Amino acid sequence: MNLGIRGKLFAISLALITLAALASGALVETVMRGLLLEQVRGELERLSSAAAETLLLIPGPLEVGSAQAVITRLGKRANLRVTVIGSDGRVFADSSLPVEELKTVENHGLRPEVLQAIRSGRGVTTRYSTTVQADMMYMAVPFERPDSQGVVRVSRSLSEVDALISHMRWLLTAAVVLGLLVAIVMGALASYFASRSLVELVNRARAVASAARGARGERLRVGADEDELAGLAGSFNQMADELDRSFETLSQERDLSRAILENLTDGVLALDAQACVTEMNGAALRLLGIERAPFGAPLIEVLRVPALLEIVSQRGTKENASAEFVWPGPPRRTLLATVTPQPARGPRVVVLRDITELRRLELMRRDFVANASHELRTPVSIISANVETLAAGALSDPSRAAEFLGAVQRNAERLSRLVNDLLDLSRIEDGSHTLSLKPTSIEGPVGAVLDLLESRAQEKQIAFEIAVDEDLVVVGDSSALEHVLVNLVDNAIKYTPAGGAVGIVAKHDAGHVLLEVWDTGPGVPESHRARLFERFYRVDPGRSRDMGGTGLGLSIVKHLVETMRGTVHMRPREGGGSVFWVRLPAAAEERSLNGKDASEPLGSE
Ligand code: ADP
Repeated sequence: MNLGIRGKLFAISLALITLAALASGALVETVMRGLLLEQVRGELERLSSAAAETLLLIPGPLEVGSAQAVITRLGKRANLRVTVIGSDGRVFADSSLPVEELKTVENHGLRPEVLQAIRSGRGVTTRYSTTVQADMMYMAVPFERPDSQGVVRVSRSLSEVDALISHMRWLLTAAVVLGLLVAIVMGALASYFASRSLVELVNRARAVASAARGARGERLRVGADEDELAGLAGSFNQMADELDRSFETLSQERDLSRAILENLTDGVLALDAQACVTEMNGAALRLLGIERAPFGAPLIEVLRVPALLEIVSQRGTKENASAEFVWPGPPRRTLLATVTPQPARGPRVVVLRDITELRRLELMRRDFVANASHELRTPVSIISANVETLAAGALSDPSRAAEFLGAVQRNAERLSRLVNDLLDLSRIEDGSHTLSLKPTSIEGPVGAVLDLLESRAQEKQIAFEIAVDEDLVVVGDSSALEHVLVNLVDNAIKYTPAGGAVGIVAKHDAGHVLLEVWDTGPGVPESHRARLFERFYRVDPGRSRDMGGTGLGLSIVKHLVETMRGTVHMRPREGGGSVFWVRLPAAAEERSLNGKDASEPLGSE
């Protein structure tokens, strides 16, 4: 049975009170009985001596019944039974018997008190008397008369003592019951008050304990009395304050860690000793293309990458272990997983870094170096071969010398174009080629391109068609714009066969200016269009080289246009040929979009 604090306190006090009452009752009864018996005994002692003295005063010889009258009176007076027993055990007188029965009374010589009195001068016994039907105390003392001797015995019923004791027992019981009732009431009150504080303490403590789940600020009421409970409540409140502070610090630290974790661009996965996922930040979800963190799932189910599983299962190593793998996505990414060394069987942290761009740039750099060396090597080896031939004697043959020198000059020019284009590209890419973006009319650059290339077009009998709307102003850099147009128109003239046509179109296009350079040349097959703007990419490398191309022109165009916040693409021209188009923000639109004059210089974009 569950009693609760109050019930337990009450039951304990009740048991204690009952136990104390029973013990004290038993003690009092024993002591009282002892005292009363001692009193009876003293009385019997005095009266037995008096009876013995009285016997000496009785005249005449002592016979059966001769002292009966005196003894009867004495017994009545003293409210005792007095028996005179001869040395042979005969009863001479007995205050409680009629004289005629004396002769028939059984011999009393063997009564224990009688034997004891004869032996030691006084005998005392207490026993149940069948004659009187009560507990009796007997005391016998010897007497000696000139004519006879014997024992005089006085006895007294102990029923008075018993009555007194039982009366006292009743009184005591009543007192105990009364005391018990008072004690019960007091105990109940005390236990009620004590347990009320305790129950309150317990309830508040529960509330404080549940503060961890949200309801902070619960405190125990500290009463005015400075008792133990108040002290306990005070300590408890102090502990709760401490707890609150710890919670606060912990939650701040947790928020900070979470914020750091969530703001990392690297994916972080925490694994428990069984390599199951216990933590995963947003970057990890993004990199792996997972919507919800699979907490508790084994890593092998989340990332089926053997190389990763191998480094995760390595134990006892002191250095970071890493593995690079391609995550199919989509989007497909190259990821580098690093596992930090952890104590054996401890949790592990896997950091995922997206190195797709890094690997792409590395590949681009390798390709670029290979392409650039290849491009440079060709004219250099042609020049050196021709110079060698000249040195070997061709110089003295004027007709051949001119041919070799011509080849040297062409390749030197090609080398120079290549180096210039490479320098331009590198300046644009590393940001040192600063563009000043400001409202620029496109008429200037278009005019400059015409001046520069019109004669070349005429040489090739290519018709030039210009359709440029008036007042077209873009936000851009005039020399960059000219560079873009020169490259595009130069290509158009270069790749268009003699007799064809090349054109420049410029017009408004929804807040932008659209510049198109078209030609009636061979066009670009669909499969090459996507890579057309890459460095050194050519549809027909041999033909391009023959025409003095470097393979860098369109790449420079793309960089310049993008730096001017524009786009460039190519589409096939209806009726044959290509259209390279550039879309740049129109000046008025740019102003209204940015709310300012967009004329700040731009460097690295
Ligand atoms: P290149 O110096 O070889 O002309 P570009 O980067 O200017 O290098 O052009 C890249 C390639 O794009 C060229 O090699 C050529 O194959 C193709 N191309 C460029 N412009 C045209 C065009 N107008 N018509 C057809 N093909 C073109």
